[in-house]
Amino acid sequence: MNENSIKYERQREEMVRRQIEARGVTDPKVLAAMCKVPRHLFVSEALRDQAYGDFPLPIGEQQTISQPYIVAEMTQALQPGEEDRILEIGTGSGYQAAILAEIVFRVYTIEKIHSLFLSSRKVFDKLHYHNIVTKYSDGTSGWSDESPFDGIIVTAGSPGIPKPLVSQLAVGGRMVIPVGDRYSQELIKLYKDEHGIHKTNLGGCRFVKLVGEYGWKG
Ligand code: SAH
Repeated sequence: MNENSIKYERQREEMVRRQIEARGVTDPKVLAAMCKVPRHLFVSEALRDQAYGDFPLPIGEQQTISQPYIVAEMTQALQPGEEDRILEIGTGSGYQAAILAEIVFRVYTIEKIHSLFLSSRKVFDKLHYHNIVTKYSDGTSGWSDESPFDGIIVTAGSPGIPKPLVSQLAVGGRMVIPVGDRYSQELIKLYKDEHGIHKTNLGGCRFVKLVGEYGWKG
């Protein structure tokens, strides 16, 4: 382990303690994953020293890697289990997918910007995340060939809940998705059981736009 990785490991521990545990995230699986995944390797070299700060960071193509706390909150809300197959819409840097890959059986993640699709795949391979399956397409239509999913996480803001995603959720499955206008959204958690769909509102948030057939048109 070199000097830098020790420095970043310390920053990671502090991030988990001050930003994540302090705000009420308690799932030990989520806390362990956030302590382990090297977030600084998911941003450009110039931004590495800021990777563990309490804010989102740009990842190119006018997109962002979410604030660490939001990643932890959404992951906990998804109630990930070790046998689960999870679908993520909006791979971006790949950080959220890596956090999930530490916890669940397999992560399917879709990105619609080609350069981000390529760069995230490179990081997954470098860090040996063999349980992350990537796809380059419009994720608002989901991934029907691999459905149903135990959990679906959408990491871009949508005007509504895309219908294909609801139908690709297993009975007993959970979905977490930011829903609202272009500037602010509410984080919605959806639970599907044999009676239907149950929604709860986890509070305000702000994401880049989910652009696609069942999201924003442009
Ligand atoms: N989960 C990411 C956050 C990325 S920001 C991370 O951990 O870094 C949101 C991402 O959603 C962007 O990369 C954007 O290009 C992507 N996106 C937006 N609309 C999409 C769509 N319809 N299908 C797939 N990806 C989409």
